[in-house]
Amino acid sequence: QTEKQSVIKSCPSNTVTEKTLVWDACSDALITFDKENLQDEMAYVVENDVIVAALTKQLHALSDQVEVQYRTKVVKYTWPRPYHAVTSIPWVKVTLADGRTLKTKLLIGADGSNSMVRREAGIPTVKWNYDQSAVVAVLHLSEPTENNVAWQRFLPTGPIAMLPLSDRESSLVWSTSHQHAEELLQMDEESFVDAINSAFWSNENQSELVEAAGSLFRAALSFLMPDGTSTRQLPPSVAGVGPKSRVMFPLGMGHASEYIRHRVALIGDAAHRVHPLAGQGANLGFGDVSCLARVLSQAAFNGKDLGEMQHLLEYETERQRHNLPMMAATDLMKRLYSTNAAPMVLLRTLGIQATNALPPLKEQIIAYASK
Ligand SMILES: Cc1cc2nc3c(=O)[nH]c(=O)nc-3n(C[C@H](O)[C@H](O)[C@H](O)COP(=O)(O)OP(=O)(O)OC[C@H]3O[C@@H](n4cnc5c(N)ncnc54)[C@H](O)[C@@H]3O)c2cc1C
Repeated sequence: QTEKQSVIKSCPSNTVTEKTLVWDACSDALITFDKENLQDEMAYVVENDVIVAALTKQLHALSDQVEVQYRTKVVKYTWPRPYHAVTSIPWVKVTLADGRTLKTKLLIGADGSNSMVRREAGIPTVKWNYDQSAVVAVLHLSEPTENNVAWQRFLPTGPIAMLPLSDRESSLVWSTSHQHAEELLQMDEESFVDAINSAFWSNENQSELVEAAGSLFRAALSFLMPDGTSTRQLPPSVAGVGPKSRVMFPLGMGHASEYIRHRVALIGDAAHRVHPLAGQGANLGFGDVSCLARVLSQAAFNGKDLGEMQHLLEYETERQRHNLPMMAATDLMKRLYSTNAAPMVLLRTLGIQATNALPPLKEQIIAYASK
């Protein structure tokens, strides 16, 4: 890992998202989530650099309690053997690449989806790769706009999302086939910008049959629930791409069947990896951190050994109850939208319009996603 000093120098502020608009390229079905009826802001879009800078600043402020080891990595873990009388090692031993060793009563594995902690601890994991990669980039908008809407359109090849960063910039996350992602990466800037604008605006994937059924259903809904339908808005057009900002990531899903072992806890992508279509990956990790911190504070307050299973189990139960339904819903969405077969398109068109017409259901969805 390299030192993040340079990041602290200048960071743009985060952006409030007042509305999220999600729609299907195969029909005009759309769902909006907006700030109305919510007490707080619906969501914030925060650049990774801003989060890293804030964390680094906090770590500097706590330098008398927290020591960060930069420019090295862990190469070995030696697990405790509490019941072995001769070679008893009560703590976890961590060996760094430069040969130094550390000992801890509780090792927190926050080392991402290929977690070495998870592997070395022998924790079974359910995982698979998706047939998609995501291309990310910083987008320059054609003109300054009140940029507070997150846009996501489901194309037959995968979802494309534009998230507000400032009045002139948005962030792109475009999940598509591996081959198309490679092509998007190789394109010159003009063709890349054309591909993005066309992915958001083009109607080439729409089916007349589904559209006819969808508008009939929409008309019936607007008659029954006059406030329950939303009008289609158009996303801002893109004029350029930030220099060297185009990067691609292979996508997959993974879930550790256990988040804890004696003296070990997994958090973040080490415990669960999701498709980015719901923008929930890091959020689930923050939820883990908040829960584990609360459980450990209580254990410390009660004078307990932090690595004991008793309170770690509390962490695992609470987080698995939250993370598993979110992961299942995200995977289902990925599968439901990975086809342009007419019956499936019709089913999701009607489903999304019905959900859109039920504000209490949408509020529940937002509340669950922000937990
Ligand atoms: C295209 C894309 C878009 C996304 N968009 C969103 C979004 O909008 N919202 C959202 O909430 N989430 C999003 N996510 C998910 C989010 O990026 C991840 O969930 C998050 O980065 C996981 O954080 P983590 O700290 O658990 O793991 P990581 O970010 O993978 O960090 C793991 C760290 O551990 C270090 N490490 C690993 N092994 C060792 C070792 N042996 N020794 C020392 N260090 C080690 C690595 O260097 C790395 O720094 C997106 C993901 C992708 C791919």
